[in-house]
Amino acid sequence: MKRAVYVNCDGLCTDWISPERTPTLAALSARGLRCAEHRAIFPSVTRASASAVATGCRPIKHGLHGNRMAFIEDGRRLVVRDAGPPDFRGHMRKALGRTLRVPTMSQRVAKHGGFVGYSNVSPGAAYFLDPEEHGEVRHRAGSYGPGGSTVPPLPVKAGLEGDIAMAGLFCDEVLRSRKPAISVMWFGDPDLTMHNAPIGSPTHMAALKQIDALVGDVAATIDELRAMGEDILLMVGSDHGHETISKGINVTAWLDENGFGALREAGKIAFATQGTATLLYAIDEAERVVPDVLAKLKASPWVGEIATGAELERLGIAIEGGLVAGISHARDPAPNEFGVAGQRWGAFNGSEFKGLGNGQHGGWGPDETRPFLIVDHPGAKPARCMERTSLIDIAPTILTFLGVPADGMEGKAIAWS
Ligand SMILES: [Zn+2]
Repeated sequence: MKRAVYVNCDGLCTDWISPERTPTLAALSARGLRCAEHRAIFPSVTRASASAVATGCRPIKHGLHGNRMAFIEDGRRLVVRDAGPPDFRGHMRKALGRTLRVPTMSQRVAKHGGFVGYSNVSPGAAYFLDPEEHGEVRHRAGSYGPGGSTVPPLPVKAGLEGDIAMAGLFCDEVLRSRKPAISVMWFGDPDLTMHNAPIGSPTHMAALKQIDALVGDVAATIDELRAMGEDILLMVGSDHGHETISKGINVTAWLDENGFGALREAGKIAFATQGTATLLYAIDEAERVVPDVLAKLKASPWVGEIATGAELERLGIAIEGGLVAGISHARDPAPNEFGVAGQRWGAFNGSEFKGLGNGQHGGWGPDETRPFLIVDHPGAKPARCMERTSLIDIAPTILTFLGVPADGMEGKAIAWS
């Protein structure tokens, strides 16, 4: 039986792949199909991206707006919820009567060999690989099998050490033993390290090298299984890149300082922060102040570009649930201390802003939107795909390889043979 494996190296921009920094990824690129024009979705954040990988659709179709999104809750109040904690799906079901609006790969192969996902990012990003529990998702905060059956938590810590432990378990338990039709492993690094260290620093380079070596362990395991006659498609990629944040904006304070504090307190206007981007929501009496808010935003130093209406939909996010605008934060082209060009504003809410000088992502800046993707299969000729691909093309490529219908997806199967 055919099998497909997707490994996600969170936060790894395509520019960092080289024979010196990432020998495994460079070697896989040389023997397989390297998607040279691979792109992130908007917002370029992990939870909406995991949903895009799982469904082959952007937020406009799958319905998770980002790492945080506002719901219209009791009393017609906008409540911004973080999609990271384990209980987020409960809030989403209560507010919208659903989690994701479209089926996942896991649902599509539930009766055709099944799905197993191991993830070392936030619980929310892990669970959005399969939010309706058609297959198995394992995470340190709690795991589940088909129908919500209990499965032991993934016995790993957050961080690189956890990634190392997870890769060993994934190779032994999933690749060698379980052999589901689709398996996904989602590393927390280099993303986690980049949020806590400058881009291009020795700490970042060390994390990159470690993740590259772990991809090497997966590829070697798959090569062993292929040598025994198994037909396995391996795709390795990332969900987004990173850019340096050198300044922070408290978006709650911005609303208050610009005269929208009463509407904010009434739950009629809200910002959902996405790192280097922000989503603006407005309902009821706040709808009439939106032109004023947008005019003030345009004049603010932290705002780069604003998308509304058809432009926002073209970026792949729907005008629904009070969402009225997407903002990608301003960028200064000056390099950071390690010579990596580009410094951005990061958004925060209320509390002290952490992580200045380190990496961040979320908007449509040049580096955060260029993840990498490699398709590896013995039948793939070494090549570079110069057509635009994105996260939503991963699911249809996998399903087409397995001979399972990929109908209703926004993405297209990537031709690799
Ligand atoms: Zn990510």
